[in-house]
Amino acid sequence: MDRFGRTVSYVRLSVTDRCDLRCVYCMPEKMKFVPRTQLLTLEEMEGVGRAFVKLGVDKIRITGGEPLVRQNVLQLFRNLGELVGLRDLTLTTNATQLNKYARDLKAAGVTRINVSLDTLKPQRFKDITRIGDLDKTLAGIDAAIACDFKQIKINTVVMKNYNHDEILDLVNFCIDRGIDISFIEEMPLGQNDHHDRAVAYYSSDEILEDLEQHFEMVPSTMTTAGPTRYYQLTEHNTTRVGFISPHSHNFCDSCNRVRVTAEGRLLLCLGQEHSMDLRHVVRSHPGEPEALEQALIDSMQIKPKGHDFNLNSQEILLRHMNLTGG
Ligand code: SAM
Repeated sequence: MDRFGRTVSYVRLSVTDRCDLRCVYCMPEKMKFVPRTQLLTLEEMEGVGRAFVKLGVDKIRITGGEPLVRQNVLQLFRNLGELVGLRDLTLTTNATQLNKYARDLKAAGVTRINVSLDTLKPQRFKDITRIGDLDKTLAGIDAAIACDFKQIKINTVVMKNYNHDEILDLVNFCIDRGIDISFIEEMPLGQNDHHDRAVAYYSSDEILEDLEQHFEMVPSTMTTAGPTRYYQLTEHNTTRVGFISPHSHNFCDSCNRVRVTAEGRLLLCLGQEHSMDLRHVVRSHPGEPEALEQALIDSMQIKPKGHDFNLNSQEILLRHMNLTGG
């Protein structure tokens, strides 16, 4: 529990900062990646996950970069999947490799998968991801659906004049497949030379308004322990529409999560730099899980009250999302 009485029960563990796509809001085209030697090993990551679960964390999301490009990452899923006390082992992916991995992930104990998909138009997909092939991602989504996970959710970052005209099409895509969707407001993480984030801002309220012209939508009490606010479509009960709104509906009061970067830096807030070097703790106390557990307990004292994202401010965090662990 942190200084503000918030219980941290959810950890987002980034297993790599590398990715096979280059989404324009996430990283620059010529991204400089962290040297591999600086990354935590998969065994060290498992140790971090184990320590968190021992202290009461019951949800771990594996993210990145693109988690499925990390070599042997399935073994990490298998080992975490066996931890007693972990209720939800989840993955965020761009789905380019889900066709190959979906069945093994299910067998390893993965419960839910979030897939990032911002457009259904092939050329636009290539423009936003800079190098991606829409068909590969769609095949990955279908492969995951066939494996019957507890939840599959599409995550869409909405940008005005890039993809805001596809909100309805994306919801219909999810209705056709009986899966959920969340719309995300772009966050000011890392410098962005591609577009002006303030100009591309399209709020969750605008999206909701657009959708209410086509659907009856009722706020839902459902939560998956993340920041998403869900709505139920009254005529389509297998699809929920969620909103992740760091600008318009700041979710810090109920924050229950922390992040660990691929280098082992424990970030106490998505929008602040307060952190702890877990790699140092792990490597200076080999075979001593108690040292790591104590560090995690201590870190709760520096978890900030909240982020203060400001679209018009010059001050932006220099960390890109792929490094933060989205
Ligand atoms: N490669 C995986 C994927 O594509 O889902 C996982 C990592 S990616 C960084 C995780 C999520 O962060 C994606 O849904 C992506 O759209 C989102 N994201 C990246 N940069 C963002 C930004 N600046 N604002 C909001 N969401 C962002």
